This record gives sequence, structure tokens and C-alpha cells, in this order.
Amino acid sequence: MRYLPQVMNRDRTSGEGKPATSCPICSRLRPLAEHLNEAAEFCLYLGNHAEYSDGESTRTVRTEVIGDWLRLAARLERVEINAWATEGDSAALYCGTVADRVDSDSKHFSAYSTALTRFIFVANALEETYRFIAHHHDQIPIPASGRKPKTPAVKAAALLDAGPVALAEHHGHVVSNHAILFDRYLDEHRETDEVLLCERGAPSHGLHMLRILRNHVAHGVFPLIPNPEFEGDFDRVTLLHLLNHSCRVGTLYVQAFVGAFNKGFKSNEYSDIEGAYGCEFERFLANCTPAYALSLHLTGPFRLATWMEDGLESQYRSPRV
Ligand SMILES: [Zn+2]
Repeated sequence: MRYLPQVMNRDRTSGEGKPATSCPICSRLRPLAEHLNEAAEFCLYLGNHAEYSDGESTRTVRTEVIGDWLRLAARLERVEINAWATEGDSAALYCGTVADRVDSDSKHFSAYSTALTRFIFVANALEETYRFIAHHHDQIPIPASGRKPKTPAVKAAALLDAGPVALAEHHGHVVSNHAILFDRYLDEHRETDEVLLCERGAPSHGLHMLRILRNHVAHGVFPLIPNPEFEGDFDRVTLLHLLNHSCRVGTLYVQAFVGAFNKGFKSNEYSDIEGAYGCEFERFLANCTPAYALSLHLTGPFRLATWMEDGLESQYRSPRV
């Protein structure tokens, strides 16, 4: 049983960090690492599994594994690229200007690699989530075109647009912000026309944007831009924001799917808490409900990563009389 609270990156903001904004919705979002970790913990406590078949083989998909990918993304701070590693023995003789360039390249490609890696981890969580819910696709009507989606990603999108999936709180606001970055990305970098398989603003809009980005990254089409401080005028900030914001949007979809298609909390961790006595455990059970899936990204008095210490602290603040 895991009663020790998990203290992880509490004051750090790997990646996007806390949005610096005056928007009343965005200012309620948890820092990205905290958001990813909260969703990871929720998937762990759910402890659900489902059978997934790709037509050739069948395997068991577990929410813990979805959470493991999200936790890995939450804990990722930096991928280190060292441009000096390929500069040879004469590097020590470089003048200051050349040395500055090599140092700058190290920083540029480290930042880029970090954002790409975090995106890949979240994309893996999302892919596993698609497989977790794939069998529910049979419950919705066949589309008027008569064409059934083949991939788990497109099946998941169809489930969203058919209506049985409640979206996370403020989902539309976060996705509309994402669309601004995504449209700018396509305008500047697309090699071929990309077709969104949905209406803009549809429940699956964000998922289709992520699907296209994931394919660009997986197929090596996502631009690996040179260091804009020395070469070209590439909009590095937009690309890094796009990758980090994709992690936010992807996790919102994980939340919606596991929120809609879970069978209640089945993990040993959760049942151990059900059998425990104490105000902190009662507080946990009152807050860690299936409905919490839709607000894991929002700041609030309850947090799965720190529920034990927070629960004990609230008892000391308001002793029983
Ligand atoms: Zn906002």
C-alpha cells in the first residue's frame, strides 16, 4: 500500500509551466508537470483494464500503463544535447564567437529535444488510451458514409463526436487556444495539405490536431529547425509552445476517455484506502471520484500527489472539538 505522499516537481515547471496569463480560465490550469502527474495518479488509482484486439492478436491494456507514460512526461526535465561532442580535439582553440555558437546550439537542440520527447511520451499515453476504449466504438451507430474507422485513433474521435464522452472542464477553451498555434504551424511548415477529419470546434477537433502532429513527429516530418539565433528566422517559440500545449490537450483527452469508460476504482491502492480509518482517508475518498477525471487539470484544494499530507495538515488547522 502506498500511503507516502508523492512529492514531485512541486515547485518546478518542466515544459510549459504555469501559464502566465490574466485569462480567468487559463490561470486556473495547473502547471503542466503537475497536470500530467495528477492524471497519471488518477489512472493508477483507477486500476482498470480492457482487452484490445488489432484483428491479429489480443492483449490487455491497463490504465496504469497510460499513467506511467504521463508520469514519465511529468518528470522529464531536460534532454541534454551537447554540440561540443562532435567538435573534435581542436575545439579548445576556438575563438569566443565560435564557442558561443556551439554553446547556443547545445541549448537550442536541448530545448527542442526535450519538448519533442515529452510530446512523444504523452502521445504514447494517448495511443494506449485509444486502445483502452476501442471496444466501445461498436456501441455507436455506423456513419452515414458506411465507412467504419480502422485505427484506434479515428475510432476514438468518432466516439467523441457521437456524444457519449463528457469532455474535461474548459476543454473547448484550451483546444481553441491550441488551434491558434496549430494553424500557425501548418501555415509555416506544412509540406502537403492536411485535412482535418472533423468540423472545427467539434469535440474531436483537438484530437485530430494531435493525430496529425503525432504523425509528423513519428514520420520525421516535424521540422527540426536550425538554431534561429544564428541561422534563419524560424519561430522556435511557436513550435515549442505547440509541442508543450499538445501535452496539455492530449492529457485532457485521456481524462475524458478514462472518465467516460472506467468501471470504478479497481486498484489495490484505492481499496487499501477504502479499508483505512482516518479523516485524511475520508477526504481522499470524497474527492477521488470518477467525476474528478474531468477536473484533474485545474488547481484546487485536493491533489492526488499530496492528498495524505494535505489531509493531515487540514486536520491540524481545524481540530475537532
Ligand atoms: Zn484562457
